Amino acid sequence: MQKRRYGRTNLQVSIIGFGGTWISQLNLDEAKKVVQRAFERGINYFDTAKLDGDSEEKIGAALEDVRDQCIIATKTGSRTRRESLVDVQSSLHRLRTNRLDIIQLHGIDDEKTLKKATGAGGSLETCKQARAEGLVDFIGITSHKPRVLVKAIETGEFDTVLVPLNVVTRQALEELVPLAKEQDIGVAVMKPFSAKTSRIVTCLYKPSLSLLSDEPELKALLGNDNQAMVRSALEFVLAQDVATVIPGLSSVTEVDVAAKAGEDYKPLTSEKETRFRVHSGMGCCRDCGLCLPCPQGIDIAAVLRFHALYTVYGLPNWAKKLYASLEVKAERCTECGECEPKCPYALPIISMLGNAEKDLQR
Ligand code: SF4
Ligand code: SF4
Repeated sequence: MQKRRYGRTNLQVSIIGFGGTWISQLNLDEAKKVVQRAFERGINYFDTAKLDGDSEEKIGAALEDVRDQCIIATKTGSRTRRESLVDVQSSLHRLRTNRLDIIQLHGIDDEKTLKKATGAGGSLETCKQARAEGLVDFIGITSHKPRVLVKAIETGEFDTVLVPLNVVTRQALEELVPLAKEQDIGVAVMKPFSAKTSRIVTCLYKPSLSLLSDEPELKALLGNDNQAMVRSALEFVLAQDVATVIPGLSSVTEVDVAAKAGEDYKPLTSEKETRFRVHSGMGCCRDCGLCLPCPQGIDIAAVLRFHALYTVYGLPNWAKKLYASLEVKAERCTECGECEPKCPYALPIISMLGNAEKDLQR
C-alpha cells in the first residue's frame, strides 16, 4: 500500500484509510476482524469519531497491540471548551491510548459554527491545550463545505482537513485543495462514493461498498463490475492533491476491495482522465447552502446539483430519477427573489431553477 505525506504533520498515511462510521453497526468481534484486516492489508490511517456510535471503542480494541504502527484520527463534535474536554478524555479512554495522533473539530458546516468553535471558550482551545499536554499531536477539522474549510485554513490553526470529494462532488478542487497544498495542510477525503447535498445523499454506492449502485450511467462512467467501480472512483480521488481517502468500511470483503484498489493504484490513464473530465465553469452551484431556506421549501442546492449531473456530468437519466425523488420541485418557485442576494457566487438562481425544471421534468 502506497503512503503519502499528510501535509505539515509529516505523517506518512496509507492512500486508503479506514472510515470508522459503519463498524458501529457490527458486534465487537466482527468489527475487530474488519479493523484488523485493514491493518494487515497495509492501512495505517484510521478515522473515527465520538459521534459514530461505539466506533472508537471497537477501533481501540482492535488496534491496541499495534497502536504505535497506526495513525488514529478522531473528532470532537462539541463546540465549547468544557464539553470538548470531556470528549478528548473519553476518546483517549475508548481508543485505549494515551495519545491521539489527530483530533478534528467535527462537522463544522457553516462560518458561525467555525467562529464559535475557534473563538474564546470554543473547542479549539481544548484541542490546543490537549496538544500542549502531549495528549494530541495534531489538530484537524472536518466539514461538508469546502468554503468553510478555506476559512478554517486561513486561521492557521489546523494541520489537516477532511472533506467530501468524488467524481460528482468536486467543489473541494476549486479553492480548498489548491490552498491546502500551498499552505501544506494535509487533505483527507471522505465520501468517495456518495455525494451529500443539503439533506439528501445521492450515492454512487450506498452507504458502503457492499451496496453498489446499479445505475447504468454510473457503470458507464466507472466500470461494469463492483471492483472496477470502486477502483475508478478511488483512482479519481487519489489523482488529486490529497493524502488519503477514507471509505466507510464494514466488512472484510469491503476492506479487501478497497485495499486492493490502493495496492494497485496507478495514476489515471489518459482514457480515464478524458472520461472523468468535466467543464463545470464558474457558473455552477457550489452547494454552500447560503441561499437557504427558501420560503417555498425548495432545496435549491439539490435541484442545481441534479441539474449539474444532467448538464455537466453527462448523467441525464440518473439526474431525472434523483429529481423525481424531490418532494418540492423547482416549479414551486414564486420568484420572490429572497435567495439570489444571499448567493456569494451571484448565481441567477431563479433562471437556473427554471432551466433545471425544464430539463429534469421532461
Ligand atoms: S426566488 Fe424561488 S427559489 Fe428563491 S427563495 Fe424565492 S421561491 Fe425560493
Ligand atoms: S445557489 Fe449559490 S448560495 Fe445557493 S447553494 Fe448554490 S452556490 Fe450556494
